[in-house]
Amino acid sequence: MPSTSNKQQRTNEKNPLLQTFDHAPFSKIKNEHFKPAFLAVIEEARKEIDAIITNKNAPTFENTIAALDYSGYQLDRVSSVFFNLNSAETNEEIQKIAQEVSPLLSEFSNDITLNEELFKRVKTVYDQREKLNLTVEESTLLSKRYKSFSRNGANLSEDKKKRLREIDAKLAKLKLKFGENILAETNKYQMHLTNESDLDGLPEGAKEAATQLAKSKEKDGWLITLDYPSYIPFMKYAKNRELRKELSMAFGSKAFKNDALDNQENVLKIANLRHERANLLGYKTHAHFVLEERMAETPEKVTSFLNELLTKAKPAAQNEFYELEQFAKDLDGIERLQKWDGAYYSEKLKQKLFNLDDEKLKPYFKLENVIAGVFKVAEKLFGLTFKEVFGVDKYHEEVKTYEVYDNNNNFISLFYADFHPRPGKRGGAWMTSFKSQFRKNGEDSRPHISNVCNFTPSTATKPSLLTFNEVTTLFHEFGHGLHGMLANTTYPSLSGTSVYWDFVELPSQVLENWCYEKEALELFATHYETGGLIPMELVQKIKASATFQEGMATLRQISFGKLDMEWHAKNPSEIKDVKAFENKAFEGTQLYPDTPETCMSTAFAHIFQGGYSSGYYSYKWAEVLDADAFAYFKEHGIFNKAIATKFKEHVLSKGGTENPMTLYKRFRGCEPKIEALLERAGLLSA
Ligand SMILES: [Zn+2]
Repeated sequence: MPSTSNKQQRTNEKNPLLQTFDHAPFSKIKNEHFKPAFLAVIEEARKEIDAIITNKNAPTFENTIAALDYSGYQLDRVSSVFFNLNSAETNEEIQKIAQEVSPLLSEFSNDITLNEELFKRVKTVYDQREKLNLTVEESTLLSKRYKSFSRNGANLSEDKKKRLREIDAKLAKLKLKFGENILAETNKYQMHLTNESDLDGLPEGAKEAATQLAKSKEKDGWLITLDYPSYIPFMKYAKNRELRKELSMAFGSKAFKNDALDNQENVLKIANLRHERANLLGYKTHAHFVLEERMAETPEKVTSFLNELLTKAKPAAQNEFYELEQFAKDLDGIERLQKWDGAYYSEKLKQKLFNLDDEKLKPYFKLENVIAGVFKVAEKLFGLTFKEVFGVDKYHEEVKTYEVYDNNNNFISLFYADFHPRPGKRGGAWMTSFKSQFRKNGEDSRPHISNVCNFTPSTATKPSLLTFNEVTTLFHEFGHGLHGMLANTTYPSLSGTSVYWDFVELPSQVLENWCYEKEALELFATHYETGGLIPMELVQKIKASATFQEGMATLRQISFGKLDMEWHAKNPSEIKDVKAFENKAFEGTQLYPDTPETCMSTAFAHIFQGGYSSGYYSYKWAEVLDADAFAYFKEHGIFNKAIATKFKEHVLSKGGTENPMTLYKRFRGCEPKIEALLERAGLLSA
């Protein structure tokens, strides 16, 4: 009787995901290939790990650390094909497979990080690191690998390990509960309006959506909810101040009503468990634990960064607030501006000052022109050329494929571009890869990079014309793309965008700057019908409106960053009253009067549910980096080859092979300073 494994083997021989391939073989892949492919490649990766563990030779960098990094190559390829499809071209079947394979993958990854035999070998190499004469990249890899074990408790005694697992299990449950409460609060609330005059000020589209929502719940009139697409337009446009107040209070008091859905206990428990976990692992606080693997390095540095920014941005924020308050007073006799007035009067003031309409700009940003533009920018800066190719397999006919070459005609990367929304693609825009770059046995394996977006599609009468926001998004994702394409490292886990979290947005954000420059816009921003160049007064307006109320926005981000650090950079055991604690953390950052019924912490999903704990500062940190880096270009010309080459050699090509501050200083000649951001944001003249 033939065994099933023989039968499986024969099927696997025909599975395109289990053959050696360069480009992902999309046209040959069927959904039923994924599950058996995953099972086979996980098995294969397990064997590779076993071979490392059972190696009779003493552990060395090569036979342990390097071998570990090169292991699981086919698993990475299959995973990237599958999960990229699940984001860009999914269906129920793929989602079902994702549910099935995700636990297998986390089990496999746990089997590695919790593997004591493997850790023993890694530790043996790590303990000898001073004597091994390692290159910088090798020593970064060694330390990264060692920490992936030690930060998971590999060095702890058995009872402490047990406690660590208990804490992790509790934290997972609490975070889930935290999120469920917010979701339940969001879904519970609805504002039912039956007088059309209550919707005065709202654009037609927002009104229509409110009608549709009411209809879907079998109600007359209009429904407004706490979901962003409903909530934001109402706060921005609704004339009725009382209703704005009602909605704003409902939003701000989520999970803060002392009822079954309240999150106060949950955030206290989460903060205390995180603190205990950090202590167990030998760190002073949770923030110390997190920041060890960030460019900012320590809570002290983050705090002084936020305070410096606060001191410098506050005068501008206060001026803007005063201007807004005067505007509201003149317009509607508002005496004291409240939280529920901010978005409404800001929108009105912005219209008055700039009157900048997307429709006026769009004709200058035909998608094909913008793509040609971003390619041109990459050519002028880094000597890259993009050649559209038609023989490469793709997962949807709308996807475009390019081969990228440097100025010596060396092949650099394959580039996929997938620009328009369709059913089966999730929202937003992102960069991803189908294969990362690495070097092995003297051979440089080049990457396959992809940009996926949801831009305005063409219609029967009009080509795809982008809003300015879409233009900057395209440049942003392409910046991440360059980070992937220009990668030039040995080890796959240090390649391209595999860098510290507060460094990863530098290449993307810095590239956005070119969208605001005359010299760059001249390359591509021409009217799709007349061919005329975008008028420079429009460009000036774009620039000016981009920094509208930047002081207030900065103060808001600082307040969230400070709240995050207060929760995580100190021992939280003394905190009893969440709201009082929060108000103290917010001191000096608030412009609007406090409302005792609302609380930020109980709905601050970024830090209590998502992965931003001790990381909220990184939004502003990344802006400081990109402004400082771009200022360097501006000093020498935005297409200066020498500066661009430095950026490529010291940042884009280096991935995570070295400490990001070292890389940055090598590019810039000094540490980043916040002045460039303040200047760009118009905060210096205040
Ligand atoms: Zn980004």
